[in-house]
Amino acid sequence: MSIPPSKSELPRRLDARKLAQREQKLSGTVPLAQLERLKAAVESVEEGVQADLEFARDLHGHFTVTGHLHGAVTLLCQRCLQPMPVPVEGEFHWGIVWSEERGKALPKDLDPVIQDSDELELYEVLEDEILLNLPMVAYHDEECVASEHFHAGEESAGEDEQRENPFKVLEQLKGSSGKS
Ligand SMILES: [Zn+2]
Repeated sequence: MSIPPSKSELPRRLDARKLAQREQKLSGTVPLAQLERLKAAVESVEEGVQADLEFARDLHGHFTVTGHLHGAVTLLCQRCLQPMPVPVEGEFHWGIVWSEERGKALPKDLDPVIQDSDELELYEVLEDEILLNLPMVAYHDEECVASEHFHAGEESAGEDEQRENPFKVLEQLKGSSGKS
């Protein structure tokens, strides 16, 4: 049985133990408004983070959550300092524990996630996860510094032309050596 992709919001908190016993699957988003730490870490965030989670108990009785998430953020290109959209993907395999002590006893392939009350702060844990998967730096694929003044004014048209015609970029490079 598979759950169709959905844009519905994930619960902010949930009892991971109960969901693991039911082998529940969840799919949904962490809403944009709840991603304050992520917003502080990047240039901007345009949409909520989408995540799929599968709760289960493994053969040793560990409470596990396996899943992946994806989001899209805007970082500054470290070459031209212009904003660039960057997709962020992450896979995770959590072992839900009730104390740090228990976390240390988990097998290495499980990342300990502590639920120290009745409910797990799901948004916080997922935000941690996406922060871990952020690229440290971002660069445009193409030579962007030389073409920067080239597509000022005709932004998107300039970008397409640049992609189609690499010689144009070379011309630009040559042209910019004798900068006015
Ligand atoms: Zn750039």
